[in-house]
Amino acid sequence: MTETRRICLLPGDGIGPEITAEAVKVLRVIGEREVMTFEFNEALLGGIAIDETGTPLPEETLAKAHAADAVLLAAIGGPKWDTTDPDKPRPEQGLLGIRKGLGLYANLRPVKIFDALRDASSLKPEFLEGVDMLIVRELTGGLYFGSRARETDVPGAATGGGEGMRAYDTMEYREYEIERIVRVAFDAARTRGKLVHSVDKANVLESSRLWREVAHRVAQEYPDVEVVDQLVDNTAMQLIRRPAQFDVIVTENMFGDILSDEASMLTGSLGMLASASLGDGTALYEPSHGSAPDIAGQRVANPLAMLLSVELMLRYSFDMHAAADRLAAAIEAVLAEGWRTRDIADTSTLPQKMVGTSAMGDLVVEELG
Ligand code: NAD
Repeated sequence: MTETRRICLLPGDGIGPEITAEAVKVLRVIGEREVMTFEFNEALLGGIAIDETGTPLPEETLAKAHAADAVLLAAIGGPKWDTTDPDKPRPEQGLLGIRKGLGLYANLRPVKIFDALRDASSLKPEFLEGVDMLIVRELTGGLYFGSRARETDVPGAATGGGEGMRAYDTMEYREYEIERIVRVAFDAARTRGKLVHSVDKANVLESSRLWREVAHRVAQEYPDVEVVDQLVDNTAMQLIRRPAQFDVIVTENMFGDILSDEASMLTGSLGMLASASLGDGTALYEPSHGSAPDIAGQRVANPLAMLLSVELMLRYSFDMHAAADRLAAAIEAVLAEGWRTRDIADTSTLPQKMVGTSAMGDLVVEELG
């Protein structure tokens, strides 16, 4: 008997529907091979949801997301809905709303160098040998969610000693918040290189000292995984100096925000970066790029970040590691054969085999056999 997995699709705006079509195409083929039925349920999010319902995250969308086994989101937003009027709905509110609604506290971003795209990186190719890391960022705590305020008329706050303004943000972590995210990192490391860098600023911050204490406690449950404590400033440097030393990096919200953007640039191509956001219920998968309104409708968008998001979904929501490996290998093979969408074409090594969105999806399907 075939099993069924329900996927809530959120194509969103811009190139979103184009790359979603490729994901569905690839999942159908994988489903046939794996004797697994993928059931798709589409819902509205972002600009299109504003147009059709007046709100960026309709209740029906959140209900469909909760009811699914996984959510696959393409991208939202575009100039049509850009507004500075605080009373008007914005597509981004839909994105934040669905992350909050699903209780997604862990953001996973793999950074992998595809051999065929090595020249796209701003680092010299010899530094990129063996780079394959996963950044696990805490997503619902820390400085971005702690108490904050701006005060006026504070004595001595103005230049020259008069009354002026003062603002503060607080980096707060509760034990359980650290424990659950560190666990995500150790579980992931078990399926990869069995090494976790726990990144903090324990030489200065109390929240980091708690982070380190809890990380060490959790580490005892994973004797097969090596754990290394690293200060965040050192990590920022090591990512550029010797990125291949990392397997899994786990860190708090703001450190992770900055480090994951730094690390993503090792690949040099936005169209190749996927992400997973996990909580205790339905997880959400999405490419790191936006809705690319400048090329929407031209059928030239790169669908690979979306397909790499599908790979993460197979791994983390469906435990289909062999199928995920096959998809990753298929993408690698297509690139190795020289096939490129416009955004990853290297004009210095022409001729290359340029294709559009749909043809790139077809090539991956062909490789999957
Ligand atoms: P963007 O990522 O959409 O585009 C940046 C550049 O990269 C553009 O030149 C675009 O054409 C190109 N690009 C992006 N993805 C591509 C792909 N798959 N294939 C080929 N080229 C690709 O970022 P932006 O231009 O700053 O933002 C555009 C809109 O997307 C804005 O409304 C923004 O708010 C929104 N956005 C949404 C998300 C999300 O849905 N998670 C993330 C970032 C930005």
